[in-house]
Amino acid sequence: MLDVLELGHTYGTGATAHQAIEEISFRVDEGEIVCIVGPSGCGKSTLLRTISGLIKPSKGEVKLHDKTISGTPGDLAVVFQDYGRSLFPWLKVTGNVEFPLRNNSELTKAQRRERVEEALSWVGLSKAVNKYPWQLSGGMQQRVSIARALAYRPALMLMDEPFASVDAQTRGDLEDLVLRVREEHGMTILLVTHDIDESVYLADRVLVLSTAPTTVVETLKVGLPRERDQIITRESEEFVHLRGEVARLLKHTELAPQE
Ligand code: ADP
Repeated sequence: MLDVLELGHTYGTGATAHQAIEEISFRVDEGEIVCIVGPSGCGKSTLLRTISGLIKPSKGEVKLHDKTISGTPGDLAVVFQDYGRSLFPWLKVTGNVEFPLRNNSELTKAQRRERVEEALSWVGLSKAVNKYPWQLSGGMQQRVSIARALAYRPALMLMDEPFASVDAQTRGDLEDLVLRVREEHGMTILLVTHDIDESVYLADRVLVLSTAPTTVVETLKVGLPRERDQIITRESEEFVHLRGEVARLLKHTELAPQE
């Protein structure tokens, strides 16, 4: 579904040029959850921004359904860490979720409403439809952002550190929500996190990135059963082994001498 091909990105030119991504290639298949982990400042957000068409890569290309992405593709939705800034405070929950659908001329008003209601029920927010974002907890606000992405029915959902600003309990609940959404609605997800345990818990594959200018150091296949549990999975031998592997790779890349 998604092909990232020899992608590189340098900010600026001349003496102030800053190479963020050296060269990255990977693919994400339909229905997969792929997590990206890497040291802080290595280029994870830059990578997501190039995939979502917000910045044009300096080299290489990104293909969605075999078509090169130029500009922001229609069937892709992004969920950011900063839910507080990504929701409109003057719109109620329904208005926020409906917002990206307003430009979809193929949908009638009734169909839009239906999609919004459905997405809100998927994330367990049917009772909060008439609330404003600022009347909700951080975790609930992030559920609204996820519902907004789901209502759009994207082929691919990109998530940039989506749970970094919520407490541990809420984080676990939202991780399970992501797994449920994939299971029940066949969503394909590319998720960036700096949390090693989260990457292993959620992913079918984990891509470990090096420090900037970044490359893929290793791709780890997660052989855990598809159904996961916050306690049982995290205690399993395979989980403990994989989190150790990711931690070792990250430590190694952070200790490697910089050019
Ligand atoms: P991460 O998401 O992994 O923390 P980023 O993608 O935000 O990393 O940043 C990668 C590198 O590119 C960092 O060194 C950062 O300072 C630099 N960078 C990010 N955005 C810009 C920009 N707009 N202009 C110049 N450099 C940038």
